[in-house]
Amino acid sequence: MLTEYSEYTIHKYWMHRALELAKIAGDEGDVPVGAVIVDASGKAIAQGQNRKERDQDPTAHAEILAIKAAASKLKTWRLNQCTLYVTLEPCPMCAGAIIQARIGVLVYGLDDPKTGAVRTVANIPDSAASNHRLRVIAGIQESACRQQLQSWFANLRHSPD
Ligand SMILES: [Zn+2]
Repeated sequence: MLTEYSEYTIHKYWMHRALELAKIAGDEGDVPVGAVIVDASGKAIAQGQNRKERDQDPTAHAEILAIKAAASKLKTWRLNQCTLYVTLEPCPMCAGAIIQARIGVLVYGLDDPKTGAVRTVANIPDSAASNHRLRVIAGIQESACRQQLQSWFANLRHSPD
């Protein structure tokens, strides 16, 4: 039980960091999504935040940028020893990249009823298209993740322009 509690505490810690990255994205006009990749020793080796609007790049999702940075840093595309933390359930593109990168563990905050491709709208990791077994932990810091997204969209609706 102690081990499980410790693991939960660690997940909350890194999700908090992902939320901070998401906030930067939100403040800069992108939908607030943040991601952190932690290696087997428990050290953060890469991070990402949604940059789609800023870069006008449809692939510039937080998870993609974090995966590219982690692979570059470790000089391997095989990230099976890594844990990816992301505030929102990955979309089909990011779920695909997570499988391609052989991410060991995916931890996310909030289910995405629109494009969630891990379990909500689709389940890419468990589909026939996946050749990788992914451990998934959902719902870490869920209320903080929901709050952040909801207030960002509420501000968008109320902005004068
Ligand atoms: Zn995505």
